[in-house]
Amino acid sequence: MALRLSALQRLARLAVVSAFIVLGTAFAWAQLPEKNPNEQHLIFWRYPDNYLENQARVAFTAIDEVLQAYPPQKEMPLPRKMALIALDQLLHDTHNDKAEPFYTFINTRMQRMLEDMERPVNKGMRIYKLYNDGFIIKTKYATVAVDLIPGGTKDHPFIADSIIYKIAGQCDAMFISHFHGDHANLNIAKAFASRGKLVIAPKGLWVGVDPMIQQLLVADTVVDVPFNDLKMTLHILPGHQDDIPNNIYVMEFDKCGTVAHTGDQWNEEDIVWIDDVHKKYDIDILLPNCWINQMERSLKGFGPKLVITGHENEMEHTIDHREAYWITMKKFERMPNLHIPNVLMTWGESYDYKR
Ligand SMILES: [Zn+2]
Ligand SMILES: [Zn+2]
Repeated sequence: MALRLSALQRLARLAVVSAFIVLGTAFAWAQLPEKNPNEQHLIFWRYPDNYLENQARVAFTAIDEVLQAYPPQKEMPLPRKMALIALDQLLHDTHNDKAEPFYTFINTRMQRMLEDMERPVNKGMRIYKLYNDGFIIKTKYATVAVDLIPGGTKDHPFIADSIIYKIAGQCDAMFISHFHGDHANLNIAKAFASRGKLVIAPKGLWVGVDPMIQQLLVADTVVDVPFNDLKMTLHILPGHQDDIPNNIYVMEFDKCGTVAHTGDQWNEEDIVWIDDVHKKYDIDILLPNCWINQMERSLKGFGPKLVITGHENEMEHTIDHREAYWITMKKFERMPNLHIPNVLMTWGESYDYKR
């Protein structure tokens, strides 16, 4: 027989249940370490976003420590591989895109890199990897930047103005591959120009802005630009991203080495002349976009002694085109006959190369 409760009984039962809840909650709070704020900070019950942010902060910090302990090298040790894969995971979780742990991570590393740039290069070349496809090459005589950008928006850049402009201040010249915002930033270009430093831009970009910002007048031809003060010669090769002009820069540093940067090279026609680049230039280091068209064929065309891929984890892309480090690792595993090592690097790292 179904038990039927009167309204009064139901009220009484509700009162008892409520009393248990109140007492239970009070007991639970009594168990929380209110007297120990250090422990209280690590309890995230009912605050999942807060939990994820704290987890990201701990993970970014640990990754930063592992990467410092295992710096870039030809044979990647397992802890470094794990750190880069963990970084991919964090950078493909959109919770972290505009969150404080990400900004702290990248700016801590960029500030450290800025301080490291004071360290002289006596022989060969030092390559710094910056955000996205940005690189700085430093020799005894020259420090040049390619595709240097802060990332993010003007109001909330990934790399703080206070750091990126000091990095720009350390450089003697800048070369821009093509107009896309993940490679070209007018304010950074103006910072170079205002200090009397030359900026080379592709055809049609920033025309008339400043006499120190110089464009290629003709696309689709090779142009050589001597930089006598910097003891280097810049060879500009007419690449393309689809049909957009994309300068490929071959930077020949006297007695120090030659570095080529491919920008966002992706084009079916150019691959024919790229096949022969190694016949004209003795390239030590190639800095290709990690999703370059026909990677194995392109790398053989340039024929470098060493590769340092760029453009991984471009945070302005959706996560399917953020190009994880682990994808670059897989691509190289699948080219066993290439025999060109890839020194896989992340933001703010450097690699010293001697011929
Ligand atoms: Zn592009
Ligand atoms: Zn790009």
